[in-house]
Amino acid sequence: MAMATMIAMVLDAPGQPLRRVERPIPQPKAGEVLVQVVACGICRTDLHIIDGEVPAHFPIVPGHEIVGRVIALGPRPSGTLACGDWVGIAWLGHSCGTCPYCRSGRENLCDQPGFTGATHDGGFATHVIAEAAYCLPLPPALAMAEAAPLLCAGLIGWRALRRAGQADPIGIYGFGAAGHLVAPLAIGQGRRVLAFTRPGDTARQALARELGCAWAGSSETASPVALDAALIFASDGALVPKALQAVRKGGRVICAGIHMSDIPNFPYADLWGEREICSIANLTREDGLSFLPMAVASGLTSRITYFPLGDANRAIQAVRDGRIDGAALLRP
Ligand SMILES: [Zn+2]
Ligand SMILES: [Zn+2]
Repeated sequence: MAMATMIAMVLDAPGQPLRRVERPIPQPKAGEVLVQVVACGICRTDLHIIDGEVPAHFPIVPGHEIVGRVIALGPRPSGTLACGDWVGIAWLGHSCGTCPYCRSGRENLCDQPGFTGATHDGGFATHVIAEAAYCLPLPPALAMAEAAPLLCAGLIGWRALRRAGQADPIGIYGFGAAGHLVAPLAIGQGRRVLAFTRPGDTARQALARELGCAWAGSSETASPVALDAALIFASDGALVPKALQAVRKGGRVICAGIHMSDIPNFPYADLWGEREICSIANLTREDGLSFLPMAVASGLTSRITYFPLGDANRAIQAVRDGRIDGAALLRP
């Protein structure tokens, strides 16, 4: 009998195109599950991995916005997952459970973390192995391919928004995959949201207004109102001093990207007045468990462009060129 095989898009080293590989379907070990991928989103972080800007173990199958169904459990399964369950698999694929960060509820900062699609194979494939304890059970309303962008773009947006506390108004810098999900969430909470895009990106500005943003314009223009918080989802470090100038006393600038170009010098006066700059790193499982019901309740949807799995390189290029409004999804 022929051995059952899977298809994976493999990155051998930074700067290489992904390579289509057919190989045996791996068996889940104790504590793991085998998941059949329904869809996997392409995240900016995947581009950083491909560009060598975010470390990874090579060769690697990228992809950490995975929606799929459990098709096999490893030996001695613990937990409640069963075959047929819809799960989301996100960036945090493992944490040690014993380091000071894990023990203080900050597994996102774990000293010995595992990251899906970076330290172990991710979802640009027909099948993926994951630790059962790090799979997020998907509510029935999210048991569909369209939920994939929620698993990183949405989650990071959620974590950044929580970091903003009760801030109102909020500025969103970089109105892409995360920005267009977090904006309706914040607006639904009764906050005013201003969207800052690349100069001349009138399409994204129109989308922002359509989603209920009070203002949308170029990040080169001064904010029309003083902000309580600025969430930066773009990877351009020059946005940090710009956002800092836009926040009022006590305001916070939250950098949500995993990689950013260098931040230019700026006068201390722009930081003074108890303004803060901070970053969001990775995710906790609690972020996912609190966010998914919220996403259902607020009816969050992404604009999605689908690509077949085998067209991963073309899809990645489209994301890189900024030709995708919202999210790009690979479907096996
Ligand atoms: Zn740890
Ligand atoms: Zn991501």
